[in-house]
Amino acid sequence: MLKNKVALITGSTSGIGLGIAQGLAEAGADIVINGLGDADEIEKTRAGLASSTGARVIYNGADMSRPEQIAAMLEEAKQRFGSVDIIVNNAGIQKVAPIEAFPIDKWDAILAINLSSAFHTIRTAVPWMKANRWGRIINIGSAHSLIASPFKSAYVVAKHGLLGLTKTVALELAESGITSNAICPGYVLTPLVEGQIKDTAKARNMTEEQVIRDVLLAAQPTRQFVTVEQIAALAVFLCSDSAAQITGAAVPVDGGWTAH
Ligand code: NAD
Repeated sequence: MLKNKVALITGSTSGIGLGIAQGLAEAGADIVINGLGDADEIEKTRAGLASSTGARVIYNGADMSRPEQIAAMLEEAKQRFGSVDIIVNNAGIQKVAPIEAFPIDKWDAILAINLSSAFHTIRTAVPWMKANRWGRIINIGSAHSLIASPFKSAYVVAKHGLLGLTKTVALELAESGITSNAICPGYVLTPLVEGQIKDTAKARNMTEEQVIRDVLLAAQPTRQFVTVEQIAALAVFLCSDSAAQITGAAVPVDGGWTAH
């Protein structure tokens, strides 16, 4: 389905991003992965993705808080593969703290990595997508693109902002064959959430099991985590021709959380 398409997924060395990279590679796209981590582990991930799917896969370690590194990553992708047709803005970090104690450096980092990085990937790739009259922009928002939770000020602001960017870009590009959508997951058990479980257990003097049951899954009416594969399947669908008229949308995958 995605033969001859090139997909760049930010923050794809683990978790949701890696699952989406796998899904898009299985659908036939060439892949640029990105993210932080141990160089040998990342090379294993890259090689595994290539050999399990037959896709061409390259890695670029751009720090998503650095606009010049983001632009250089997009340029490398274009040089290696000819263009970038699909962008998945997925890189993200989290910090849980009360507003008056929220570390200023974490505020700045969350806005840069979770929000501004998407502006930088999109602004660089849109001219190439316009030239091809085809493109797919998928922003990984969150249930927190739609609702707030206490102690997550920077994250909620960044994810609401990302949805605003999604809609604005959708309107600007509506006649160009390019769609822009946000996937808004509820809780997915990834390294990001595993860290949050540990922090919350300490902060609230609870066991990790209690945090999972009484804090995380209490928000999610199905009482189950969303899986990486479920998010990846939706991303692949949004890249298909069947989804050509879906643009500017926020698609929740949250076990009913935002239906409350
Ligand atoms: P994760 O921690 O497993 O993955 C995050 C990825 O981002 C990693 O590859 C990491 O290396 C990368 N990253 C972090 N900082 C970076 C930087 N400065 N430059 C480049 N890469 C960087 O987390 P995840 O749960 O898979 O999260 C992926 C996205 O999904 C995030 O945007 C997150 O907000 C969103 N999300 C996650 C959940 C969840 O429950 N896990 C729910 C809703 C939304």
